Amino acid sequence: MLRFRPAAASDRGLVRPGNEDSGYASAGLLLVADGVGGNAAGEVASASVAHVIASFVLGSRARQDPVALLSDAIEYAFAHLSDGVRRDPARAGMATTLTALLADGDGFTLAHLGDSRGYLLRGPALQQLTRDDTLVQELIDEGRITRQDVATHPYRSVVVRSVAAETTPVATILRVGLEPGDRVLLCSDGLTDLVPDDVIAGLLDEGSPTAAARRLVDAALTAGGRDNVTCIVGDVDEGNPHVRNGTLVGAHRNPVNLIDPAAALAQSLARGAAVG
Ligand code: CA
Repeated sequence: MLRFRPAAASDRGLVRPGNEDSGYASAGLLLVADGVGGNAAGEVASASVAHVIASFVLGSRARQDPVALLSDAIEYAFAHLSDGVRRDPARAGMATTLTALLADGDGFTLAHLGDSRGYLLRGPALQQLTRDDTLVQELIDEGRITRQDVATHPYRSVVVRSVAAETTPVATILRVGLEPGDRVLLCSDGLTDLVPDDVIAGLLDEGSPTAAARRLVDAALTAGGRDNVTCIVGDVDEGNPHVRNGTLVGAHRNPVNLIDPAAALAQSLARGAAVG
């Protein structure tokens, strides 16, 4: 079986008053979520969605279909955020990106919505595993702008998919072929807006996962730190891909940001029992 040797680092940055990013790193699940919304609702969105995904994976049984598991978790995360707005209408409009990579014993499954990113470092080559769900990426795909136009485009920050309280989520979920020796990075745009891919590749390609995650966060701070920044790094090796005892970073560290942790866990256990 293959699993991750995981590490996580997150920082509020040098400009923002709080950290709306959340991250989770364990042998079986890596994830990053970048929340948006006023009145601290961005923190609630990213932390609650991170909690729901981790709870669903924790409550799952061996041999469950990982695509169905992640798809059900994202659907419940949407219902959970909607419930969070019913409880406190000041949270209306809250949303979060989600990039999650699951090791299920047979292989790896990636779930993605938004402009956080997943990368694979194999040897010296850095490959982006995710496609940005952004307006500028759609304009590039349609040939209406080039990659060079993105930095100055007035709508460069518009995200077209997310886990939100008001909109049914449309996730990209796919199997990913990873091998022992691979290193993966999941990160928020607080890194990729400030640090170019070739610099990311160099900083990622050295030392332990913990040292690499810290080095990448420090590079974003050195580049101005104008956004929250979260880097989750995993080395693929042989072992048991359990989800327990994960490292929580960012808004996910503070239980006050969770809408209803008991409800999320109960839902995940009910699902596991129904499938099993
Ligand atoms: Ca961000």
